[in-house]
Amino acid sequence: MIFLESRLQPLNGNRRMGNPESGGFPVQASNSFSQADRLWMQHAVSLAARAEQEGEVPVGAVVVRDGAVLGEGCNRTISHSDPSAHAEILALRQAGEHCGNYRLPGCTLYVTLEPCCMCAGAMIHARLQRVVYGAADPKTGAAGGVFHLLTDARHNQVPQVSGGCLAAECSDQLKQFFRRRRMQQT
Ligand code: ZN
Repeated sequence: MIFLESRLQPLNGNRRMGNPESGGFPVQASNSFSQADRLWMQHAVSLAARAEQEGEVPVGAVVVRDGAVLGEGCNRTISHSDPSAHAEILALRQAGEHCGNYRLPGCTLYVTLEPCCMCAGAMIHARLQRVVYGAADPKTGAAGGVFHLLTDARHNQVPQVSGGCLAAECSDQLKQFFRRRRMQQT
């Protein structure tokens, strides 16, 4: 999971800004998210901040059903020496343990950054009802940023996918992280 600042484009309404070379993809307008969506995404942002405090790239995720948290996680690839320790995977794992079932119907997963192919695959296996992400990732995103894996109709079941929830905040969190890291390296 490698991100460069230039890859992270903020969303503005239902149009993505910047970098036309990366190819656009439709996202829901920011006003289409509910207050609950924004609150859960804010929680994911706070989880991402925890990752940053631990020296990881700040990405956070939370799995919710019927207004309750079933699982949450933040990126821990470095501390776990585990390429699969993305925030979404850890949140899904915790939710699965909580429910005693690897399938999580009726659940919504909120994540601050558009999921990668690995996480999109896990979300399909989990049979999530819905996935909401914040910042788009036009380099590795699997929800339309690059790949359309998460919404590929060939899957038995695909979640409803909404991108751009608190997009500016999620994008800024990553941008500032990389800016600070660059400054530390120079
Ligand atoms: Zn991932």
